[in-house]
Amino acid sequence: MSDSPKIRVATTSLAGCFGCHMSFLDIDERILDLVDLVEFDRSPITDIKQLGPCDLGLVEGGVANAENVEVLREFRRQCKVLVALGACAVNGGIPAMRNAFPLADCLTESYVGGIGIHNPGVPNDPEIPLLLNKVHPIHEVVKVDYFLPGCPPSGDAIWTFLTELLAGQAISLPYTQLHYD
Ligand code: SF4
Repeated sequence: MSDSPKIRVATTSLAGCFGCHMSFLDIDERILDLVDLVEFDRSPITDIKQLGPCDLGLVEGGVANAENVEVLREFRRQCKVLVALGACAVNGGIPAMRNAFPLADCLTESYVGGIGIHNPGVPNDPEIPLLLNKVHPIHEVVKVDYFLPGCPPSGDAIWTFLTELLAGQAISLPYTQLHYD
């Protein structure tokens, strides 16, 4: 058990599928070494809803709606170092596939005219965050310090990245952890 103060880490999923968070858990038993070094603030891992000052923020998912913008800006304000975790955060990924079509067409296809629609009508409850016209990678909204690509990045890649970052070393991901075939 280390006596050093722990690194405070927050994580969030914006327009993502939680696959990057699941990959994080693929570090398996190494998570026991990690909890010796870090403590978690707001994260699906802790279910803490309010974000406090943190050393490191890991952001999964693209920016697709007004709530994503709000959460992302709060992460930038509170986290000294911000990381785009996975393809959706890095370049928009799967959610950004809708960018090829006007938003109105996407809504019509999903809620009005698509196959198998019953009770057609676009939801307009004020509790539902407003969709942006396009899905954005997170660096188009806030400054990002590190990008960790992959869909998802493997548990080994996340482990290499975190251990080197926490040790203050340059990130040196080997090719075997960065190939996508
Ligand atoms: Fe899911 Fe892949 Fe996007 Fe991660 S990068 S949130 S695994 S679709």
